[in-house]
Amino acid sequence: MKKTIFGILFSFLLQPLFAQQADLLIQGGHVIDPKNKIDGIFDLAITKGKISRVAKNINPNHAAKIIDARGLYVVPGLIDIHTHDFYGPDSARHFCYGTKSILPDGFAFSSGVTTVVDAGSSGWRDFPVFKKQIIDSSKTRILVFLNIVGAGMRGSDYEQDTSDMDAKKTAMVAHQYRKYIVGIKLAHYKRPGWKPVDEAIAAGKQAGIPVMIDFGEHDAPMPIKELFMDHMRPGDLFTHCFAELKGREPIVDPRSKKLKPFVWEARKKGIGFDVGYGAISFSFSQAIPSVRAGFYPNTISTDKHATIKNKIKDLPEIMSEFLAIGMSLQEVITAVTWNPARAIKHEELGNCSVGAIADITILSLSNHKALFYDHSGYSLEGSGKFKTVVTIKNGETVYQAGK
Ligand SMILES: [Zn+2]
Repeated sequence: MKKTIFGILFSFLLQPLFAQQADLLIQGGHVIDPKNKIDGIFDLAITKGKISRVAKNINPNHAAKIIDARGLYVVPGLIDIHTHDFYGPDSARHFCYGTKSILPDGFAFSSGVTTVVDAGSSGWRDFPVFKKQIIDSSKTRILVFLNIVGAGMRGSDYEQDTSDMDAKKTAMVAHQYRKYIVGIKLAHYKRPGWKPVDEAIAAGKQAGIPVMIDFGEHDAPMPIKELFMDHMRPGDLFTHCFAELKGREPIVDPRSKKLKPFVWEARKKGIGFDVGYGAISFSFSQAIPSVRAGFYPNTISTDKHATIKNKIKDLPEIMSEFLAIGMSLQEVITAVTWNPARAIKHEELGNCSVGAIADITILSLSNHKALFYDHSGYSLEGSGKFKTVVTIKNGETVYQAGK
């Protein structure tokens, strides 16, 4: 009996030593983990691809590898909720297995992004090809909003074809591939009428997933109040929320520079506002009055795709712009980690809980003046710029600046 108690006691005493064995220890960084309300200097240990500990002064003697993160920010791996990744060699196919999409391994890790969400490049017809040709062979984690148009974003004519918008077939494919498909997308519809919106929402309802809507290339703009209050559901997402373009009703009145009152109501209802920065889909004239009125985007995203006119900015650059506009550091990090994880119902991502997938991004934030421009030429001065220093996915270092 005595021996047993001694044995238990002995193994209990030794346990912390062995339990602390880490494959990687990130030391002394400023950890921001919005889900767990962590915001301060901590060490973070990773074991077998999972986060094993976040604490002050973790013993480094039992770590296989150490990263010195002093002076840097350590945050959950960034999630870019609006990208186009279904690259293929045929320019006539646009975003859907065409040259307007970009392979994410070419841009994601170097910009601190471990998860991209493709925003509607494929519909139900081509998703299996997308999965086989791109998703399965990419190192970047790719999740998908499935287009309500069966042919996806093959070009504008295809996207006007309401006879190819089939909620049932779309929901069936979304259900079949639920490991990858996190939502439904509607984009680029130009004609009057609510059929495409309602069909996308019907598919979302049937599959139990949110809908992301790119609303407004209409010849006569359609009312967004009606879209928000009468059609979209709580949890659905309105992307390109700071666009000021012809055919699209903006959320800020361009004359009074005031956020329209129903936009607050839409937020209260639970509609998510996504940036989807893109080539021309973001204007300071919309973002500045919104943010300064306290209306922050729920999610900050790039709308990364290939375009001749403009290079689409990387996520850390866009995050820096929102800092310059006046969002707090914590709010900016939340909009690229925990908020997108919640929006796509993948709460295993975007946080540093013990046991969570070890996707980590280490960022520097310079403290000298930076100038930012939108597509209209409007410029804004900021006081710092984020840069990706290290990106870790599933516990593996997949990018290191200067290497
Ligand atoms: Zn897009």
